Amino acid sequence: MSKSQPRAAIIGAGVCGLNCARHLNQHGWDVDVYDKGRGIGGRLAVKRIDGLGSVDLGAQFMTALTPEFISLLSDEEKQGRVRPWGARIAYIHSKAHEQASSQIRWIGTPGMNAWLESVWPRTQIKFNQQIDKVTRGSDGRWILGGTTTAPYDCVILAMPPKQAADLARDTPLEEALRAVPMTPCWAALALFDQPLSVDFDAAFIRIGGLDWIAANHTKPGRTPHPAAWTLHAGADLSNELLEKTTEQVAPRLLSALAEALGTKLPNGHIPLTHRWRYAAPTAAQPTGVLWNPDLGIGAGGDWAVGGRVEGAFTAGRLLAEAVVAPR
Ligand SMILES: Cc1cc2nc3c(=O)[nH]c(=O)nc-3n(C[C@H](O)[C@H](O)[C@H](O)COP(=O)(O)OP(=O)(O)OC[C@H]3O[C@@H](n4cnc5c(N)ncnc54)[C@H](O)[C@@H]3O)c2cc1C
Repeated sequence: MSKSQPRAAIIGAGVCGLNCARHLNQHGWDVDVYDKGRGIGGRLAVKRIDGLGSVDLGAQFMTALTPEFISLLSDEEKQGRVRPWGARIAYIHSKAHEQASSQIRWIGTPGMNAWLESVWPRTQIKFNQQIDKVTRGSDGRWILGGTTTAPYDCVILAMPPKQAADLARDTPLEEALRAVPMTPCWAALALFDQPLSVDFDAAFIRIGGLDWIAANHTKPGRTPHPAAWTLHAGADLSNELLEKTTEQVAPRLLSALAEALGTKLPNGHIPLTHRWRYAAPTAAQPTGVLWNPDLGIGAGGDWAVGGRVEGAFTAGRLLAEAVVAPR
């Protein structure tokens, strides 16, 4: 490791990567964050749709159990960047509707990713930079393919495990990363010409192939359209439709919704879809974050610590702690 300020490259500006950047920076590291996308937050994606405002097609809400995340969300609530969502949430299975468990469900405002600005500023992220290769030079420092920046003392792969495995090729991390299972999710925005006649704002669904639906207008700061619903297909249906086109997927999602609700839907269409190829980790036993101190390469994400936004946040801190731990 160089004697001057140590330098880290973090690939992935999702929750894990940005929290890792923050903690490393607090430990005196010079950090560069890269992302292939144009926006901050990865799977906390916010989509804007003409004339309608923003809708959530990725993460729907956040829950907080750890002191670090509870404290951050409470600060962010004071700043207006998250708000509790007092939604009526149903659990639909076998034609029965039940009330889902009550817990605080936090919504980022105006978008799910708004609070991440205080974790790591957007202005310090190198967007539109797809890193397709990381190589270790003869001095043991890392060079990122496609960039001209000076070498790094360590590289952190903060992304879904399959994508991280491709970058960690031929390192001791690769095998463990390839073994982590993730399921896909087809997500869509459905617009109807009149409100659905349901007595809930969102629902976990276990029949008909969908997994989750939510009325966007019931969330703070989202489209006011009274009949704009986010639909998430479950893992089985998403796998079945994985390589299909939007035109093929949209009618399947609408018929799955009708089946779940057990009713004929008002006229509707789907103007927006997104296929999350790596949506959610499914391993019963998460691996924990991966860090190889000899090579200076690490990997983490929601998959390392049990899933969800909070898991990704914790993984970012754990990665940074692993990097700075005395050897
Ligand atoms: C449909 C859906 C619904 C969800 N609902 C919820 C929910 O309600 N509550 C909840 O807590 N969680 C939910 N989640 C999960 C939550 O979104 C994730 O757990 C969390 O956002 C993962 O963060 P991360 O930093 O680990 O990874 P990501 O958010 O995936 O970030 C990885 C980043 O790496 C970038 N990247 C990847 N490869 C490269 C490369 N080669 N070069 C440069 N950049 C690269 C990507 O562009 C991305 O920005 C949901 C996820 C999905 C998909």
